[in-house]
Amino acid sequence: MGPASVFGRAPRVLMYHSISPSHGPDPHALRVAPDRLDQQLAHLRRRGLQGVSVAEWLVAVDRGRARRLVALTFDDGYRDFVDHAMPVLDHHGMTSSVYVVTGKLGGRSDWDQEPSLPLVTADDVRAIAAAGHEVGSHSGTHVRLAGATAAERTAEIADSRRALAEVLGRDVPGFCFPYGSFDEAAVQAVVDAGYDYACVTDDHTRPRRHAIPRFFVGQKDTGLRLEVKFLRHRLRARSRAAAS
Ligand SMILES: [Zn+2]
Repeated sequence: MGPASVFGRAPRVLMYHSISPSHGPDPHALRVAPDRLDQQLAHLRRRGLQGVSVAEWLVAVDRGRARRLVALTFDDGYRDFVDHAMPVLDHHGMTSSVYVVTGKLGGRSDWDQEPSLPLVTADDVRAIAAAGHEVGSHSGTHVRLAGATAAERTAEIADSRRALAEVLGRDVPGFCFPYGSFDEAAVQAVVDAGYDYACVTDDHTRPRRHAIPRFFVGQKDTGLRLEVKFLRHRLRARSRAAAS
């Protein structure tokens, strides 16, 4: 069975952003507290599920062995990943994918966010990779890629892959579309740039290797709510399969 039929089921790819104990304003609901993340990962373990990076998950998908795996992803490359997510992931023996904005390493998430948050540095990126996590590109400057010009696609997709490869000293297989915004030209640019896969957001249209749907996990998601999301995800995949 090929990857297409596996994607036709319901890929379990969870999407996180900031992991922080802060009680400051969080208007975009980007924050999950470390103790909540701990509960969510403990719940996955009780269900016999192992959290891994998307790159690891895809290797298993290609071999038809992803049944017990959940891919964990963290967008934007917030500095709090190092302080608050990594220890919890380590505690549960899980790895993840972190998608960084390559033109803003060591800066702040100043694209459209109030308040902006500090982002990982190049040294953090190397430390995250050394700890066994995957680091992928979340574009150069965090822009919407649907409707982008050819020059923008090159700068945000191909150039960011090269920049991150330079920081890591190794190839970069993963791309993650900012805002989940993409069109066919952007998907083609990701393929042409040499990425092995790309993630989008939500239960988007037809899942494929360069537009892998994910689902949002938030502070309110208890184990029970996660189960409901898994179920809804499977039902959507089923109706999508029935419709095609
Ligand atoms: Zn983002």
